[in-house]
Amino acid sequence: MAKASEHTIFDAVRDASAGPVEPVRLKETDTFCFHCRPEVACWNVCCHGADVTLTPYDILRLTSRLELEAADFLARFTAPAIWGPAGLPVAKLRMEGIEGEGPCPFMVEAGCTVYQDRPATCRYYPLGFGSFKTKDADAVDDFFFLVKEGHCTGHAEAKTQSVAEFHHEQGLADYDRINRGWIDVLMKMASWKTMGGPGGEDVSQQTKQMFFLVSTDIDGFRRFVFETKFLESYDIDDEVIERLRHDDEALLQLGFDWLKSVMFRESTLSLRPDVLQESIARARDDMGAS
Ligand code: SF4
Ligand code: SF4
Repeated sequence: MAKASEHTIFDAVRDASAGPVEPVRLKETDTFCFHCRPEVACWNVCCHGADVTLTPYDILRLTSRLELEAADFLARFTAPAIWGPAGLPVAKLRMEGIEGEGPCPFMVEAGCTVYQDRPATCRYYPLGFGSFKTKDADAVDDFFFLVKEGHCTGHAEAKTQSVAEFHHEQGLADYDRINRGWIDVLMKMASWKTMGGPGGEDVSQQTKQMFFLVSTDIDGFRRFVFETKFLESYDIDDEVIERLRHDDEALLQLGFDWLKSVMFRESTLSLRPDVLQESIARARDDMGAS
């Protein structure tokens, strides 16, 4: 049987010291009892010391809401971290307090000040989301799980919903769709690390930097695309190039395709014929020289 590599993307685990975490695996049609509302005794507890990894679409939404350049947003509200299973750099929301156990910078007594654009991890809570990949499959499969933390009284509320209903109510469809390529890259890298894929080895520091750029700084990635030889190297339609100048979501998708092509040699982007010829000739020279 093919071995599987399984990792959670949105853990929804906020404060491990607050109580035991009971993960329960769920399908979309499974139901669970939960309601979060300002009247609960634990209102805002989960927005302290929260472990929120920011996805690329989270950052697009938050920077647009706050009218900030990505670099300013990163400097003011995030801390760099490594997403362990893949060994790739990500940005997390920086909680206040010396040990990061304080409130989220977007929290006020009444609740979340960026609620309409809150990150995917916050939307998913108290669900978690994960993906698994079997050794021989190209695609990944998703799963959901319910996390019951001791401090969260929302589980005692009398509201029953299915996973699919909760997912819809939390506006997660766009987040899942737009972040898909990014999750694929994380999962493939994690699977290579745990199961020893074709590359097997760690990626270079430069590749990690490019992953971080695409994941966190759409303005910087746009400059990279338009101000370097990027467009001279890849075969991209003129119409698409025009769209990339102002469409952040399209640019993100290009970024994910580019990462897959560079990191895993997937044919998600085509090199221009002259660049391809040059690279074949260089590879032949290298082989002859060795
Ligand atoms: S972004 Fe909003 S919901 Fe998420 S941790 Fe911060 S205050 Fe809470
Ligand atoms: S019910 Fe749970 S999700 Fe809602 S505020 Fe309390 S701890 Fe947070």
